[in-house]
Amino acid sequence: MLSEFYVLYILAFIFGAILGSFLNVCIYRLPKNISIINPPSHCTSCKKPIKFYNNIPILSFILLGGRCKSCGSNFSPIYLIVEILAGLITVFLVWRFGLTLQTLFYLIFLLSLVVITFIDIEYMIIPNVITIPGIIIGIIYGALRTDWTNLWNILKTTNFNLTIITSYISEVPVFDSLFGAIFGGGLLFLIGVVYQIIRKREGMGMGDVKLLSMIGAFLGWKAVIFVALFSSLIGTFVGLAVIIYKKGDLKYAIPFGPFLSLAAVFYLFSGGFSLHLWFSTN
Ligand SMILES: [Zn+2]
Repeated sequence: MLSEFYVLYILAFIFGAILGSFLNVCIYRLPKNISIINPPSHCTSCKKPIKFYNNIPILSFILLGGRCKSCGSNFSPIYLIVEILAGLITVFLVWRFGLTLQTLFYLIFLLSLVVITFIDIEYMIIPNVITIPGIIIGIIYGALRTDWTNLWNILKTTNFNLTIITSYISEVPVFDSLFGAIFGGGLLFLIGVVYQIIRKREGMGMGDVKLLSMIGAFLGWKAVIFVALFSSLIGTFVGLAVIIYKKGDLKYAIPFGPFLSLAAVFYLFSGGFSLHLWFSTN
């Protein structure tokens, strides 16, 4: 007999795959500045609309062999990969955090990272329409986890002393979130400025700056340190591999967004979140 837990995971996967189908629309349309609502799904080759029964996530791709039903042109396998990835992410979050507010916010966070990663790989840009709302949503998430009565009492008893308040940054989610956003953005911005002075060319895009700010808003300021170090490390390895593969051509730029995203995912699932999730004085 099918346990109710498995039913939950199957539903989570289907829900995630449907979201993945929407992510594909974003990945394809956002860099081209096309509305994500209009026109409805259509073949990019023959422009014919895709009928709803031929637009079922994952299934339709497999049943139609990844081809357009009208003109037979091939669809990119990225569509299928994104749908499966979104399904798996949803299952993993539900398994890890249950049907909670935490799952909802981390779902928004991780699915945004999926869109950013695929767009950055292809176009070397990170759209503001994802990162700026992302920073705000991350801070809202911090605010929702904050025990405001408790915070108010502490502020009152310390007479709003700024030095004492700064010692609570890691314990109060909304402070952690706000500081994470400022620290994340500021750190990459400074690295970019220093790089530009030394190498006389732009090394860090403003898109990366806003992405690390968004990561800081969701995961807190400690995550920023980990993500900055870890992403530079993998970025360096991949960068060296690309230089060797391209036979020493240093002009070939690699997008940094995917490494920041990967590091954030690694931090999220490696237990960094268990430090202080709930603000309490006892
Ligand atoms: Zn077609």
